[in-house]
Amino acid sequence: MDNTGIDIERITEKLSLRREQILGFLKRLDDEAQELDTDSAQDIADRTVLSMSKESLFERTSQQRTVLRMVDGALRRISDGSFGVCTSCGDDISARRLEALPWTQYCLRCQEALEEEQRTSPSAASLLPTASLRTEAES
Ligand SMILES: [Zn+2]
Repeated sequence: MDNTGIDIERITEKLSLRREQILGFLKRLDDEAQELDTDSAQDIADRTVLSMSKESLFERTSQQRTVLRMVDGALRRISDGSFGVCTSCGDDISARRLEALPWTQYCLRCQEALEEEQRTSPSAASLLPTASLRTEAES
């Protein structure tokens, strides 16, 4: 792989930092969820608010977990030397793209193709985790 222009050390630092941020964020959300659970004395309006905030909590949590999985995957690819290579087509991911999105596992072209696919058929949304599982099995 051609690593020209990619500062692995700096990217590792970035990824680790991001990882800590997400873990901290998830911990806070967890605390928040527990508070919601233990909150007593609700009238109907409160309950509505409660279920809404639970929903948004869940959404935020799963978003962060997705990013965390991607960050972990990127860190793993750094340690096994496959970082910077698109896991879909095997091409190099541009250094500029890695700077902006160090946890990405796709080159711009594959990312765009994937997003297009997800846009046209929502069931393809499961492609992302599947693709990363497949990479794990292959490496
Ligand atoms: Zn690609």
